[in-house]
Order: sequence, then structure tokens, then C-alpha cells
Amino acid sequence: MTRLSLVIPCYNESAVLTDTHARLSKLMQDLIASQQISSDSQIHYVDDGSKDATWALIQELASRDKLVVGIKLSRNYGHQNALLAGLMHAAGDAVITLDADLQDDLEAIPQMLKNFAAGDEVVYGIRRNRSQDSLFKRSSALAFYLFMKLMGTEVVSNHGDFRLLSRRAIEELKHYREVNLFLRGMIPLLGFRASSVLYDRQSRAAGESKYPLRRMLGFALDGMTSFSMVPLRLIGVMGLLIFLITSFMSAWVLAVTLFTDNNVPGWTSTVLPTYFLGGVQILCLGVIGEYLGKIYGELKARPRYIIEGTT
Ligand code: UDP
Ligand code: MG
Repeated sequence: MTRLSLVIPCYNESAVLTDTHARLSKLMQDLIASQQISSDSQIHYVDDGSKDATWALIQELASRDKLVVGIKLSRNYGHQNALLAGLMHAAGDAVITLDADLQDDLEAIPQMLKNFAAGDEVVYGIRRNRSQDSLFKRSSALAFYLFMKLMGTEVVSNHGDFRLLSRRAIEELKHYREVNLFLRGMIPLLGFRASSVLYDRQSRAAGESKYPLRRMLGFALDGMTSFSMVPLRLIGVMGLLIFLITSFMSAWVLAVTLFTDNNVPGWTSTVLPTYFLGGVQILCLGVIGEYLGKIYGELKARPRYIIEGTT
């Protein structure tokens, strides 16, 4: 029988954790009772350096409920790293990751398990609609997926981090040593047989989103530059285009000077290119800097998370 591990990253989630656990433990009990999963299945709560009572709550849950395993990271490492810590720590044959706020529909889990039983190594939870999300979140998400596609990175649209991974997929994931984590881009790279389950995304049960605009932008930038060389290549293309245009312009100016009397010394033709080229150069430096920063991070190869303690 399948041993299931749930992995739930928690950052300042004391407002929802008790309710979340009540629903998750009921789900687990039902699945165990109907013999869909084995009785040594587990729920892993990863405390991502919360500043509120989250860890105390997790410890209390663990002392009451033998299904619960608490993992405390030594500081806030971010959602992706907390997920990874949980994935690496979980022992199940199948591991499902989901958010602490239960925006992901628990009803999708039995179907995920069915697909897993049928031989899928990866099962993506896909949002059928985002009507519960704010207009801003919806449109920024749409722009993000579009941009990723343009940049040539394979990401599954409308899929967050609600997914099932088989033991085999997780063992392979261990070989991906990158420090800049973007699991949504890494999982499709594993290959393997994958399928999707549609679900309705709920609104956050309590507490507030831990992804303000600044973090979301950083996350999107990580996703793009960790998986795509396109921005670097665009610099080359842009440079080439500007070179061609300027060569053509120079030839033209030379011709005008040599063969006509119309060579009015121009302010525009001197000053505009200066600004233009300056802008282009700084932009290109920025893109290169972005990648350089990535390389710097990867070279240092710092641990992606540190577990301070477990329950
Ligand atoms: N989270 C985390 N570390 C962080 C930020 C978020 O572990 O630094 C967790 C958070 O507790 C939640 C999940 O990641 O379980 C998703 O965060 P949230 O619901 O705030 O994001 P949103 O659904 O608004 O995109
Ligand atoms: Mg959420």
C-alpha cells in the first residue's frame, strides 16, 4: 500500500495552522480507513523560520498526533527551499506538497493518488480558475506564464506547488544541486510520466499572503534567469542589430558629406545615439549582472536549508 507524505511549508501561519491540520488529519484518516494509503503515512510541517507561534503549534500537533512530523529550519529560507527541505526529509512512496493556507483543494488528492497508482511519477495540480485571486494576482500570473513561454522555459500553466511526486522522482530531484530553486521549472526537466488533476483554487483561509509584489517579482526573475539563456542571447541580437543600423547610418552620412552640401552639423544625430547606446549598454550590463549573481550564488554552493530540529 502507498505510504503517503504530505509536505506543508509554513511561514507565520499560526492563524490557519490549527484549521489546516484538522482538515488534513481528517483527510489522512479517511484515506487510511479506506485503505488508499498505509497507516504509517505522515504529515510534514516545515517551519520556515516563522516569527510567530507557528513552531510551538507544530510541536503541539506533533505531540498529539502521531501522523505529524515537524521540521524547523534555522531561519527563513523561502517557500521553495522549505518545500525542498520537506521533500528531502519525507519518507513516503508518494509525496504531495501543498500550502498551509489550504488554497489548494484537498479533494484533488485522492485523484492524484489514483494517477500515481496508475504509474505516473509526477501529478500536477492545476487551477481550473483563479476567480478567488485578486485581479492583480491573476494578471501578473498570466503575464508571468506568457513571459516564461516566450523565454523558452517549460512551466505548467496555472500550476503552483501543489503536486505529487513519486519516490523515484524525488530521488532524481536530489541530483539537481542548484541553489536558486525554482521547483516549477525543475520538475518538468525530470521527464517521467506526468499527468494533471484540475481543482478549484480557494481563497486563503486566514492570515495573509506571504508573497508581496517584491517577492513575486524576485521569484519570476529567478524562474526566468535560472532556466533560460534567452535574455543573454537577446543582448547579442540587440548588439548586432544596433551595429548594422549604425554601419548603415555611417555610410549614409559619409555619402552625404562627400557628395552633397547638405551636411548641416546636427545636434540630434550626435546626442540621441549617445543616450540610446548608453541605455542599451546599461540594460545589457544589468542582464549580465543578473546571471553573474546567479553564478556567484551557485559557486558558493551554500546549503539550501539548515534543519534546526525536528519533532
Ligand atoms: N511560505 C514559506 N516561506 C516563505 C513564504 C511562504 O514557507 O518565505 C509558505 C506559506 O506559509 C504558504 C506557502 O508558502 O504555506 C505559500 O505562501 P502564500 O500562501 O503566502 O502565497 P500565495 O498563495 O499568496 O501565493
Ligand atoms: Mg496561499
